[in-house]
Amino acid sequence: MNTSTEQITVKKVTTSRLPEVDFDNLVFGSTFSDHMFMCDFKDGAWQDATILPYGNLSISPAAKVFHYGQAVFEGMKAFKDEDGNVFLFRPEENFERINKSSKRMAIPEFPKALFFEALHKLLALDKDWVKGGLGNSLYIRPFAMATQVGVAAAPANEYKFMILMSPVKAYYTGDVKVTIAQKYSRSANGGVGAAKAAGNYGAQFYPTNLAREKGFQQVIWTDADEHKYLEEAGTMNVFFRINDTLITAPTSDRILDGVTRKSVLAIAERDGIETDVRRLTVGELVAAAKDGSLKEIFGSGTAAVISPVSAFGYNDEIFELEKPQDSYSERFKKELMDIQYNRAQDPFGWRYPI
Ligand code: PMP
Repeated sequence: MNTSTEQITVKKVTTSRLPEVDFDNLVFGSTFSDHMFMCDFKDGAWQDATILPYGNLSISPAAKVFHYGQAVFEGMKAFKDEDGNVFLFRPEENFERINKSSKRMAIPEFPKALFFEALHKLLALDKDWVKGGLGNSLYIRPFAMATQVGVAAAPANEYKFMILMSPVKAYYTGDVKVTIAQKYSRSANGGVGAAKAAGNYGAQFYPTNLAREKGFQQVIWTDADEHKYLEEAGTMNVFFRINDTLITAPTSDRILDGVTRKSVLAIAERDGIETDVRRLTVGELVAAAKDGSLKEIFGSGTAAVISPVSAFGYNDEIFELEKPQDSYSERFKKELMDIQYNRAQDPFGWRYPI
């Protein structure tokens, strides 16, 4: 990185909170590291880039984010290898995606040099918050929100871009049971499904709660027109293994272009596993479950890594899935984590040293 363009002011904590943290009992995303990054957009430019102690903000209740949900976010992770080196995984993808999300939400795009300088500085300061060991990581949450005061329904002219960091263990413990959406939808053609817009997530909570009441942890969303095509889950893209072919939906303006998804596809192609990026119908899935050709379903995402699905529900029927001996989900999880934790070669150039 070109350090001659450094533009971030750093205010360090006087005492680290690290000794108070119980790393064995972390609740995902609820403990935050000592420092956070904050930058304001005003008078048409991003300015006042600062790293400061993690803490509360003081914001007007009339800030537009509270009224119109003009907010986007990202999710990425830092990993530590056995020698104590810290790596990010494909951070350029997250950088590009947050700007794509921002553009869709009429939020000004964030400068690349500043984003990477913020990550380097934060991770240098809080590197002891990245715990070693498989499954441990520091979840990084960049986000942008409209802070301009005023309840007129129009894009703001002031924003904050922030980055928080949270030590985590694996997101889901145990296998996941999913239900297939038949009534509610996550996104629509021409909508914001492909953006990591805050409201996409809030809108899923109610139907996901209904699914939880029936014993499912997640919903697999289908297209909004016919509820016929399988799309993705709440925070994961979804893969289906029928016989030995790995099928996943093509990305579109309804589906998030997941970094883990494209990494799984690249690993599969390298390993000679047949992939088929196409729209799979619910009918095909149910038929494959009935005739035994459906071998696996799994979700892929930064938080969840690879999450095997142990059963899916459709039309009041439950279809159980038994993990096969040659499980693709286990294989991809291992291959991905080996790259992330610097336990294997990185032929794709995905590791980003800090
Ligand atoms: N779909 C949605 C809706 C998500 O929120 C996420 C998490 N970012 C994913 C898929 C997986 O994307 P990634 O692999 O980049 O984390």
